[in-house]
Amino acid sequence: MIPLNHSLPYDVLMQDVIAQECPYCRSSNVRLPLTPEEVRDMYGGARKRTIVFPCCQGTLRIIDADRDYLLANRAIR
Ligand SMILES: [Zn+2]
Repeated sequence: MIPLNHSLPYDVLMQDVIAQECPYCRSSNVRLPLTPEEVRDMYGGARKRTIVFPCCQGTLRIIDADRDYLLANRAIR
């Protein structure tokens, strides 16, 4: 169960992983520097990864994921 205030909703579009909204600058539909395979590798906290948002260079540590959300190590909303 992912705490909602740590969760970042995302969509997969072909080979792109798209955040619905950047938690820093509020840009919408931000393409993340991740592949769908890399997201799957993080399911259940199996891997952790720091991502940099291309819109504003904000960094976020992702510690878990499921089919709908990435889980950050801190509250993002
Ligand atoms: Zn941003």
